[in-house]
Amino acid sequence: MTLQSYPLEPTAQERAAVQQAVETYVQNFLTQLPTLPAFVDTPEKGAGLLESPLEETPIQIEEALGLLQREVDVPGINSASGGHLGYIPGGGLYYSGLGDYLAAVTNKYAGIFFSAPGAVRMENMLLRWMASLIGFPADAAGNLTSGGSIASLIALATARDAQKITSRIIPDAVVYTTAHAHHCLDKALRIAGLGECPVRHIPMDAQYRMQAEALESAIKEDKAAGLKPWLLIVSAGTTDVGAIDPLNELAQITREHGLWYHVDAAYGGFFALSPSGKPRLAGIEAADSVVMDPHKGLFIPYGLGAVLIKNRQQTAETHHYLANYMQDALSATEEASPADLSPELSKHFRGLRLWLPLKLHGVAAFRDALEEKLNLAQYAYQQLQQTAGFEAPVAPELSVVIFRYIPEAITDVNEFNQKLIKAVQQDGRVFLSSTLLDNNFMLRLAILSFRTHQETIDLALTILREKAAELEQELKG
Ligand SMILES: *Cc1c(COP(=O)(O)O)cnc(C)c1O
Repeated sequence: MTLQSYPLEPTAQERAAVQQAVETYVQNFLTQLPTLPAFVDTPEKGAGLLESPLEETPIQIEEALGLLQREVDVPGINSASGGHLGYIPGGGLYYSGLGDYLAAVTNKYAGIFFSAPGAVRMENMLLRWMASLIGFPADAAGNLTSGGSIASLIALATARDAQKITSRIIPDAVVYTTAHAHHCLDKALRIAGLGECPVRHIPMDAQYRMQAEALESAIKEDKAAGLKPWLLIVSAGTTDVGAIDPLNELAQITREHGLWYHVDAAYGGFFALSPSGKPRLAGIEAADSVVMDPHKGLFIPYGLGAVLIKNRQQTAETHHYLANYMQDALSATEEASPADLSPELSKHFRGLRLWLPLKLHGVAAFRDALEEKLNLAQYAYQQLQQTAGFEAPVAPELSVVIFRYIPEAITDVNEFNQKLIKAVQQDGRVFLSSTLLDNNFMLRLAILSFRTHQETIDLALTILREKAAELEQELKG
C-alpha cells in the first residue's frame, strides 16, 4: 500500500474556519488602526515568539493570531499607520493583500512566459504603464523586484556591461553622485564587483541638489588625468530631504561625455502621476535606467520595487541564462520573461499586488492621493515656518519636510533636537525620524502614507510644539 498523506490539504470546512479567523483579525486591525500608536517600544521586542518553538504537533489559528498580534504586530513601527512619518513611509493597500493572497493560492510561476503567460503579460503591462509615466519607450526593459535595492543592482550590473567595465579598468572607472544618494547604490556597486571604482561626491546647492557645473568640471578633470568616467547616479527625490537633482542639465552632460545615466526615483518616481509632481521630474525620460518603488509611491505593501532600462538588449545580456532543463520554455518569446531580466528565477507573482488595487481603485485615486501628499508637505512647511522656535530651512520639493527647534535657552541645539525626537517617538502617536545636514541634527516629516491626512499633520505639529515646550521648560528649570 502506498503512503497517502493529506494533512497539508485542509477540507473546505477547515479552510472556511481559518479564513474567517484571519479575516476577523484583519478587520479588527483596520478598525482599530486610526487609534493605534505609530510606534511602540516594548522591552521584549517580540521575544515571546521564541517561547513558542516549532513543534511536531499543530496549534490552533487563534493561538497563532495571538502570537502574531502580541509579538509581531505591536512592537516597533506601525508601518500601516497614517502616523508613520519617518524614513520613507510605506503604505499597505488592502486590495494588495488580496492580490498577494490570490497569487499565493494559485501559485502561478511568474518568472517564465511559457509557464504563466497571463501573469507575465500582467507584470510587463504594469512595467509598460510605468515606462509611459516617465516618458520611457514602450520597449524599454523592466522588472518588478522585491524593492529598490535589488532594482538598483539590476540597473548598475547592466550599466557595467553596457559600458564594458571589466576588472582591468575598474580602478580607473569613475562614478559620480552626491553624498545624498541612497546607500543601496554603494551596496549595489560593491555587489556588482564595482567596489573599487573611484566615486566622486559632487557638491550640492543650498537645496541639496547636485551642482551641474561641478559635475562637468569633475568629469573633464578625470578625463584629462586619463581616467574613464562611466556612470552618473542621481536622485529624483533624496531620502534625506526629497531633493530632485537637475535632471535635464545632468542628462545633457552625460550625453556629451558618454556616461550611463541612472536616476534613483525609488521614492520620488510615482509623483510623475500627479499634476504638480510631473513637471518637477522633467528630464527623467533621458535616463538610461530608472528605479521606482511601488511600495513607496503607490502605497503597496513592502516587497515591490521596479527597474526600467532603455537598453533592453543589454539588460538581457547581463541577466539571461540557459539551462538544459528549461529548453521547453525557449520557443515562447512573445513577452520577455522576468527571469531573463533579473537575478531571480523562481519568484513571487508580484504583479497581482499592484494590478488589483490599480484596477479596483482606478488610477485617478492614486493621482489624487499623491497630489494630497505634496500639498500636505507644503502645509507642514508653512505651519513650521509660522511656529515660534521652529526652523525649516528648505522648501520641500516633494513630500519630505526637514526642520529643527532652536531653543531660547543657551544650550547645545543638536542635543536639544535629539531629545525632542526621542520624546516624540516615546509619545508614539506619530513616528518621525531624523537626519544630519551639515552637522546639524534635523527632524524630518516624510509624508507618503495614503492614510496620512491634514489631521495627522496637525497632530504631529501639536505633539512637536508640546514636547519642545516641555524640554524648554526643563532647561529653564
Ligand atoms: C527606499 C529608497 C531606496 C531603497 O529601496 P528599498 O525598496 O528600500 O530597497 C533607494 N533610494 C531611495 C531614494 C529610497 O528612498
